Amino acid sequence: HNRPVLTQHFSIYPNHMSEAPVSGFQPQGILMSKALLKQMIDANYPMVEYGKGVWLYDTEGRAYLDGSSGAMTANIGHGVPEIAQAVARQMEKISFSYRTQFTNAPAEELADRLAAIAPGDLDYAFFVNSGSEASEHAIRVVLHVWRERGQPGKQKILGRERSYHGMTMGALSMSGHDLRRKDYGSLLHAFPAVPPSYCYRCPWGKRPESCGMDCAEAWHEAIQSAGPENVAAIIVEPIVGAAGGVIMPTTGYLCRLREICDENNVLMILDEVITGMGRTGSWFAADWAEVVPDVLTFGKGLSAGYSPMAGLLLRAPLVESMRQNSGSAPFGHTFSNNPLSAAACLAVQDYMIQNNVLDNVQARGKELEDGLRALARKYSFMADVRGRGLLWGFEFVSDPATREPPVAAKAVAARFGELCFDKGLIVYPSGVPPLNNAILLSPPLTITADETATLLEILGSALDDFDAAGALAI
Ligand code: PMP
Repeated sequence: HNRPVLTQHFSIYPNHMSEAPVSGFQPQGILMSKALLKQMIDANYPMVEYGKGVWLYDTEGRAYLDGSSGAMTANIGHGVPEIAQAVARQMEKISFSYRTQFTNAPAEELADRLAAIAPGDLDYAFFVNSGSEASEHAIRVVLHVWRERGQPGKQKILGRERSYHGMTMGALSMSGHDLRRKDYGSLLHAFPAVPPSYCYRCPWGKRPESCGMDCAEAWHEAIQSAGPENVAAIIVEPIVGAAGGVIMPTTGYLCRLREICDENNVLMILDEVITGMGRTGSWFAADWAEVVPDVLTFGKGLSAGYSPMAGLLLRAPLVESMRQNSGSAPFGHTFSNNPLSAAACLAVQDYMIQNNVLDNVQARGKELEDGLRALARKYSFMADVRGRGLLWGFEFVSDPATREPPVAAKAVAARFGELCFDKGLIVYPSGVPPLNNAILLSPPLTITADETATLLEILGSALDDFDAAGALAI
C-alpha cells in the first residue's frame, strides 16, 4: 500500500489517561458537523469513508491498517459483500419484530448454532445489543435463577481488579477499572474483589512454576468473606482485554475457578465479549481453557461489527430452574433477538466457516507472535509479549530489569497509539492507571501473511521512532 505520509498530528485518544496536554490540529476541508458529540470533543477525527478487508480509508484518501479491529470487533474485516447481501435480503423480509409478540428465523438459527458450538450444556442463547447489555443481562439472569431456586439473598457478583465488562452501571459495578468508575461514585456497587491472574506483575510476588495459584485461591477467600449465601456469581474475562492489554491467565486458573464456584454454590460468568467467536483460534476461550461457565457473554466479533449484536449463553440447569418455577426469562430490550442483526451474524459465521478463518487465526497468530517477540528482543522497553490466536499485547517498561512501568502521567501507551495512527496502523492502547502502559493488537481474523508483515513493519517503525525520541526516558 502506497500510503501518503501524515504530516499533521491527530489526537483522538482520550487524554484522561494522563495529565499531559494532547495537541490537535484544525480541520482542513473535512465535513465535520458541530452537532455530533465525540469522545474528545474538540479533537479532529479523520472521517472514515469506506473499508476493505483490513484497511480503512478516510475521506482524504489515507489508508489505515486496522490492527485492532476497531475495538476487537471487525473480525472478518471491512466491506465483505456477502454480509451486505445477507442483510439486504433479510431487510426485504423483516427487519424488526418484537420478542414478546413474535420469534424470528434468524435469531432461532443463530441461537441453535451458538448452542451447538459452545462447550458443555451451554444450550440456550439470548441476544442483546452490546457487550454492556450482555453483562447487565448476566446479572439479571443469575439473580433471577437464585430467586427461582429460593435463595433470593444471593445478590452479590464478585469481579476482579483490572477488568472491564461495560459502561452501564451494573456492568461498571462489576468492572475493576478505576478510571472509568471514578465519576460514578456511590452509584456503583463495590463489586471487584480479587486481583487478576497476572504473572508478569504477580501481586503475591511469586513465579508461575511454584506459586500454588494464589490468584485462584483468593476467590475462595473473597467468596467466604462476602458469605457464599450472599454471592450470586463471579465474573471474569478469560483474558483481560481493554483493562490490561491481554493478560493471560496462568494454566489451570479458570478450571480452578470453576471448582471454587461449585464448592461455594456460586455461579460462574465468563465474559467472552472479546475472546468469543474465534478471536483466540477456537470459537470460545472456554474451549481451550476446558471450562464450562454457567453464563457466557459474547458480543463484538459475533456480528464482526456489521450490525450491533451481543448476548449470552446459559447452561441448561439455569433455564430448567426458570422453567420449573416462574416459567419465564423476563428480561430484554426493544431490539433483543433482532432479526436483522441475527441475519448479519449468521452471514459472518458462514463466511468464517467457508473461508477457514479459525485456521487462519492459528497461522497468522503464530506470525504475529514471532514478529512481536523479535521486536521485543530489539527494544528493551517492550516487555511481556503475551496472547493467543490473534489477540496479542505487550507492555512498556522504563527499566526491563526491575519491570518498572513508565510514569502513568506520561500516557505512554496512548502516545504510542497516536504515533502508530499517524503512520497508518491502528493499535489499541490499554490498561488502567497507574499501569496504563499496554498495547493490544487484534487485527481482523482474515488478515493475510503479507498484511501481517505490513502490520509488524509499521509497528517496528513506530517503535524505532519511540526509541529515537527517548519516549521511555524517566
Ligand atoms: N466486556 C468486555 C470484556 C469488553 O471488552 C467490553 C468492551 N470493550 C464490554 C464487555 C462491553 O461491550 P460494549 O462496549 O459492546 O458495551
